Amino acid sequence: MGVRDEPFRCYSRYLRDRYNATVFRVGIDGGFTCPNRSPDRLSGGCSYCAASGARATYLDKAASIADQARRGVAFARKRYKASVFILYFQAFSSTNASPAELRRRYDAGLSAGDFRELVVSTRPDCIDREKAALLASYLGPRRDVWVELGLQSANDETLARIGRGHDAASFFTAFSILKKAGIKVAVHLVFGLPGETRDDMMRTVDRVAEIGADGVKLHNLTVSSSSRLWKPFVSGELTVPCEARHRSYVIEALQRLPPETVIMRLTCDRVKGEPGGPRKFPSKQGFYAALRAEMIDRNIRQGSRFAGRIGI
Ligand code: SF4
Repeated sequence: MGVRDEPFRCYSRYLRDRYNATVFRVGIDGGFTCPNRSPDRLSGGCSYCAASGARATYLDKAASIADQARRGVAFARKRYKASVFILYFQAFSSTNASPAELRRRYDAGLSAGDFRELVVSTRPDCIDREKAALLASYLGPRRDVWVELGLQSANDETLARIGRGHDAASFFTAFSILKKAGIKVAVHLVFGLPGETRDDMMRTVDRVAEIGADGVKLHNLTVSSSSRLWKPFVSGELTVPCEARHRSYVIEALQRLPPETVIMRLTCDRVKGEPGGPRKFPSKQGFYAALRAEMIDRNIRQGSRFAGRIGI
């Protein structure tokens, strides 16, 4: 298997093939909140959500959106010699505001540099037709728009158990609205959620495969000491997948996904400096290398068990 003949379609390769340049995602905290963490929701947020709310620790909330964007570009130019930039609204639910307010915040970021993609991470209950139309208005010959949409599991019992605050149907509705607006959608999934079997996880993967998601982000369940899962984790009531188990889930998922789906993530980052689980897990690069080696060794490729597309 040659260098270009990878066993799965990884994101870095996708970006290199598309732009033929070093590409950098500039992560932004747009100052959004999450409706699932509001005091009027009894669930108290997703049970695995850390106090920081799935917000990357490198984000600088104190700076304005434009400053974050400018600094991110300058940093990536200097450090990585990047020449193509993606603006990524990462923290919390980055469509959780009125369309007018969303436009103001997206414009602030996009006007701070030459961004070839706008990427927005959010929840299904923060998407409607008006917001999809706004996002689509940023599409152009030189600009792509992606939404990263959290599903985690397509099993309603699991979604209720983890306090997601939406069901699977609302995910599929939001997905359909976005796709009809011409927006690319990457789906977030978590493997190892409480009470889920391998069959549950793979049923979710099959649903995502058959609707034609443009990308997926696969995460191993991690437990932060500031999340509601911490108590059952330290008491031994909850276990989380170890590296070998997660790798076996990922390999099976990759086989079931269409060959063209972009694999944007394979593991989850734990909150730095906090106690949590799993206690031992390799770096992203270490996991990628072991996964790739096993797939090549076993002659396994993405899409080899893809059952076909039925649309939404
Ligand atoms: S949707 Fe994200 S930010 Fe909101 S509660 Fe769930 S994990 Fe936390």
